[in-house]
Amino acid sequence: MASAFGNFEIIAQYGDHEQVVLCNNKDVGLKAIIAIHNTLLGPALGGTRMWNYKTEDEAMIDVLRLSKGMTYKASAAGLNLGGGKAVIIGDPKTQKSEGLFRAFGRFVNSLNGRYITAEDVGTSVKDMEYIFMETPWVTGIPKAFGGSGDPSPYTAHGVLMGIHASVKEKYSTDSLKGLRIAVQGLGNVGYHLVQYLAKEGAILTVADIDAEKVKRVCEEFGATSVSPDAIVGVECDVLAPCALGAVINDTSIGKLKTKVVCGGANNQLAESRHGSMLREMGILYAPDYVANAGGLMNVFVELEGYSPERAFDKTRMVYDNLLEVFAIAKRDNMATNVAADKLAEDRIRVIGKVKQSHQGLAARPFNTLTQFKHR
Ligand code: NAD
Repeated sequence: MASAFGNFEIIAQYGDHEQVVLCNNKDVGLKAIIAIHNTLLGPALGGTRMWNYKTEDEAMIDVLRLSKGMTYKASAAGLNLGGGKAVIIGDPKTQKSEGLFRAFGRFVNSLNGRYITAEDVGTSVKDMEYIFMETPWVTGIPKAFGGSGDPSPYTAHGVLMGIHASVKEKYSTDSLKGLRIAVQGLGNVGYHLVQYLAKEGAILTVADIDAEKVKRVCEEFGATSVSPDAIVGVECDVLAPCALGAVINDTSIGKLKTKVVCGGANNQLAESRHGSMLREMGILYAPDYVANAGGLMNVFVELEGYSPERAFDKTRMVYDNLLEVFAIAKRDNMATNVAADKLAEDRIRVIGKVKQSHQGLAARPFNTLTQFKHR
């Protein structure tokens, strides 16, 4: 498979990354790419995706895009993490093995903590355990190993904080009691979000393509269901997309009967211009990567020595982060998705200035001493 790009050309086109590592071990069938986008704020953290990419270019473009997205997510979340991501080229249903993940783990290890991995689409906690056999630079490992386990309750709690910030901004209220909230997708994040929202007295409308999940949520939390096709057009105070990407697109945007969109799904806007369209329609959009950063906050705490209480507490930062995004959008007269990018870029620029000065040496380096002796 020849590449249509020169290597540095493609890196320049997709984000000017610091480092891109090709990982090859023919004996175990490993072909992987690790992309480190930016480490100014800290080590690059992002999951490993396993996907049956049709071409190597497709895999390269995916890892470059995803790793750049992690830089923005970590920065806007206020975390001291950089952005990175890895992809393993292969079918996760048929091509996984202990050897494959341990070989990949050794490549991660060789980066000495510049890149820290985690689960992503196509990889599981079990795969992370194999990686952990070869490197400490992996998060999302089981609780038994000091890991943080399933991040979705933390992601959902962050989204709840995001909904609080959004309704404060739009409706000037601190309470969700009696607010009509429509939740699309009742998987790991959606289920926990509905649970939190029900506790706070929201009136819930839900949808999922899985009828079992809908039944469970309606019975447990007194939600009302609509068909998956209807949820985007439900008349409500907040629409919380927690299923797919590109839910706000040219077709769906005209159907919206809400004044706030805030949910956990990644890449909710089909294109960036849909953020501007929402703004023109008077709909407040909570940028997805700011609203759903609770899961990343949770694994960040894992790096410090995990405590569920501290992780839970950290997800409250989503509230302030979103209010800051809304303030930038108002001040600079821009869409909130553009304001979120600005917040992330500004923080990286400012911290770059902070790190300009040399901090002195903790100890005199050995080679300085020897040079001195032989002078
Ligand atoms: P999940 O697979 O557990 O849940 C997704 C749910 O959406 C499933 O129940 C699925 O049946 C449903 N669904 C799919 N198509 C639908 C449709 N057309 N209409 C209604 N429902 C539909 O995934 P998850 O872990 O809950 O993640 C949900 C979203 O949040 C994803 O976009 C994910 O990338 C993002 N996210 C998740 C986390 C996390 O901690 N799990 C963190 C950040 C972002």
